[in-house]
Amino acid sequence: MKFRDLGRQYQALKPEIDANIQDILTNSSFILGAKVQELEEKLAEYVGTNYCVTCGNGTDALILSLMLWNIGPGDAVFVPNFTYFASANCALLRGATVILVDIDPRTFNMDPNDLEKRILRVLDEGKLTPRVVIPVDLFGLPADYDAILPIAQKYNLKVLEDGAQGFGGTLHGKRACSFGDLSTTSFFPAKPLGCYGDGGAIFTDDLGTAEELKSLRAQGRSPEDKYDNRTIGLNSRLDTLQAAILLPKLKALEEYELDAVNQAAKVYTEQLQDLVTTPLIKDGFYSSWAQYTIQLPAGTDRSALQSKLKEHDIPTMIYYPRTMTQQTVFSKQYSDSHDHLVSETVVTKCLSIPIHPYLEENEILTVATNIKRCI
Ligand SMILES: *Cc1c(COP(=O)(O)O)cnc(C)c1O
Repeated sequence: MKFRDLGRQYQALKPEIDANIQDILTNSSFILGAKVQELEEKLAEYVGTNYCVTCGNGTDALILSLMLWNIGPGDAVFVPNFTYFASANCALLRGATVILVDIDPRTFNMDPNDLEKRILRVLDEGKLTPRVVIPVDLFGLPADYDAILPIAQKYNLKVLEDGAQGFGGTLHGKRACSFGDLSTTSFFPAKPLGCYGDGGAIFTDDLGTAEELKSLRAQGRSPEDKYDNRTIGLNSRLDTLQAAILLPKLKALEEYELDAVNQAAKVYTEQLQDLVTTPLIKDGFYSSWAQYTIQLPAGTDRSALQSKLKEHDIPTMIYYPRTMTQQTVFSKQYSDSHDHLVSETVVTKCLSIPIHPYLEENEILTVATNIKRCI
């Protein structure tokens, strides 16, 4: 069994993907171009924003956003303590200070109460200016924007939604990647919408912002004259081939993949909820299930369980084995390691099990049965 079976997805979409790739080869147009523009329009339409600007990967999408807002030294950027490192790396690269926020134990997403507590602490200390909050839509589930957006507004923070894992999720019917002042996603192959290499995108409602981002992704060149560079930027583009691959994949995501992966999650939850802590999807939320992450009962030997499952051909992963505060990069800033109790507990007992839209019911039951037997 595969953890995320991209081969099955390719078999399902092969005729369209192959034809699109062949087209690109025949036309010899490899960077940006009409296909990328078509994709940007379709992505914006799907997400429900006015504009989408693609770029080289999800990390660049975050960096470009912080560049646009001129975030740098002296600025405080609030990031959940349980996420992939890129969510914080973008702010560190800009020279800003990352303030790590604890999470909700059942959704794995940023805890809004802890966010406000830490904003007040920064204001109280008076050394940094709170500028940005980066809520992450972890494992496919939108962050708690009902609570986070008013807090951001109250303290005049920009919201940068890290939707790298959240594409396809919704809150009150509104799609992920539309909640931030800027929102980003990643097309890394294993994400809910993945390409066959690297890719990323930024979403905005503002035309001027979209134009600025297009300039920043092209070394800061001026829109009028491509050999006049008005500022410094990145070189971060989406390959035309990746756009040609993403177009049919976006269609499949919308037409049936999200339904299928939610059905898989439902069966897991029915099977496992009496035995382990299953992920909680609160009312009004819909997940795109980038991961299905359970929390094991106290006393369970996680690595022994992983080995036993592996013997039955069931792959598992630990997303994530460390909190941000436990990363070496943060060891100076966060020497008091017991200030993020929820995330520090979650990393000791979380286990992600296989999930994707092409997982069959009998496979889901096999995974569930083996977990039950092994615990
Ligand atoms: C994958 C990921 C990113 C980075 O995306 P890349 O395309 O790999 O650069 C950022 N944030 C989160 C939460 C991610 O999971």
